[in-house]
Amino acid sequence: MSRSRKAHSWRPLKRTMNRTDLPGLYIHIPFCKSKCPYCDFYSVTETDRIEEWLQALLIESRYYRHDFGTFDSLYLGGGTPSLLHPRQIEKLITGLRDVFTFDDPAEVTMELNPDDVTRENLAFYRSLGVNRVSLGVQSFVEEEVRFLGRRHTSRQGVSAIEAIRETGFDEFSIDLMYGLPGQSIRTWGSILKEALSFSPAHLSCYQLTVEGDTLFSRMAKEEKLKLPEDSRQADLFVYTSEYLTGSGFIHYEVSNFAKGPETLSRHNVKYWQHTPYLGLGPSAHSLAGKKRWWNVRDVDQYLESIHGDHIPVGGFEDLSSSQMNLEKLLFGFRTMWGIDVRQIIPPPARETIRGLCDSGFVTCHDQNIIPTLKGYLFADKLPLMVS
Ligand code: SF4
Repeated sequence: MSRSRKAHSWRPLKRTMNRTDLPGLYIHIPFCKSKCPYCDFYSVTETDRIEEWLQALLIESRYYRHDFGTFDSLYLGGGTPSLLHPRQIEKLITGLRDVFTFDDPAEVTMELNPDDVTRENLAFYRSLGVNRVSLGVQSFVEEEVRFLGRRHTSRQGVSAIEAIRETGFDEFSIDLMYGLPGQSIRTWGSILKEALSFSPAHLSCYQLTVEGDTLFSRMAKEEKLKLPEDSRQADLFVYTSEYLTGSGFIHYEVSNFAKGPETLSRHNVKYWQHTPYLGLGPSAHSLAGKKRWWNVRDVDQYLESIHGDHIPVGGFEDLSSSQMNLEKLLFGFRTMWGIDVRQIIPPPARETIRGLCDSGFVTCHDQNIIPTLKGYLFADKLPLMVS
């Protein structure tokens, strides 16, 4: 559709229900100024190859020019998208618009780090069609921000939110982290309260976990880091949900809360519903039908592949029916849409469903099993009970 290629055709979002079957486009920007000790996402701190990466990414995009039809979401994630110069963001977005077709309006999200945010940059992103920003604040308590190894202060987190609001971004999301060693419900409650004082459209509240090859994981092995007990984490989780839903938010995924149905992350919902998505850049994953593939998790290898005129795919899988089933259960128990039992083959036994209902893990509505708050708490374990 040519309309999506017109200059300035991307408008602010106005929508009623933020779910569609159109595919989403994800761009992995694999650069960070420093590595946070808990983070397992792929990124490097050498930033001298950003320009080369950008050229390569636009070449990669052309490999898929005719494969996905019209996208209705573009998500610039990473890594740290805001580390790129605004002119590089412009080159990226206009380059993608030259290659792909986007619905109008498309949801265009950009992740930001507080210390990169300026009013000037925000206004420029808006002029490029970015209509949703996601800010990695993590905490408003200075000690916690330092513990998490963030390269900004809590004050910069607040200033960035103020700048986002003043620049007219109605749709912004704040990322927060709970379950830090020694964190009390009172402290966490004060962080949530402060977040709500800025009227965000969306909140992502992640429990701190020790992941793969990270500094925190090495510290945990050496017993230099001890996270709160599971029961403490569960208390914090329940508190988060009750506090935010009590303030009018929809708890639509284990870690995600939206102010209304129109402010759900349209892009992220695709991941949980097997809607097709294309991921470009090192380590990015893609899904089309039952095929999933992922790019090499290394900037140098990625660039080498593109320079050698190869698609930088590191692996792929054809999802079997049983894998699809399991994923439907895994995603279903994590989201408010739950599971349509007609899509699970063979369907879970009636007694099993009844048992889950009686135990308060789910509620049943016609053919759908919807997780309760207690169900969300055990979202990883429930699929094993029904498969
Ligand atoms: S949390 Fe964000 S800023 Fe920190 S290392 Fe990971 S991607 Fe980079």
